[in-house]
Amino acid sequence: MNELTETDLLHLARCVELAEEAVADGDEPFGSLLLSADGEVLFEDRNRVKDGDHTRHPELAIALWAVRALSSQERAAAVVYTSGEHCPMCAAAHAWVGLGRIVYASSSAQLSAWCEGWGLPPAPVAALPIGAVAPFTPTAGPAPQFEERIKALQAASRGVTP
Ligand SMILES: [Zn+2]
Repeated sequence: MNELTETDLLHLARCVELAEEAVADGDEPFGSLLLSADGEVLFEDRNRVKDGDHTRHPELAIALWAVRALSSQERAAAVVYTSGEHCPMCAAAHAWVGLGRIVYASSSAQLSAWCEGWGLPPAPVAALPIGAVAPFTPTAGPAPQFEERIKALQAASRGVTP
């Protein structure tokens, strides 16, 4: 299901903006938001790992917020938009709290390939696709419209040339 609507692209663009804010503040380039079934942005956040806690991913923050603030029906109907596909930790949290669809602008496979091409060591957590961790969560992505911008952000945050 890779069909992205204009609305999807609008929300992904906001996630990329959040990723830019994260890089500008010394964090890693990831941003995410949670959309209710009636199209309201309920929560948004961006990566906050610079102080050493590498679990501070926006997708995990969304899952933790949603399980406190929303009913199970509201969570199931909500959509998470994110600049980069969920890592296994965040995909697991997403599925455990019963959130709905995930739409991502760039994939974990893309990020792994970029990092490998830049000669960087692999991340400590396997770059599994969401479907390998949360097999019943509908997903859409990547969105090629954002590829070059996200690749440039990832390069900038790692001090390499894209
Ligand atoms: Zn994550």
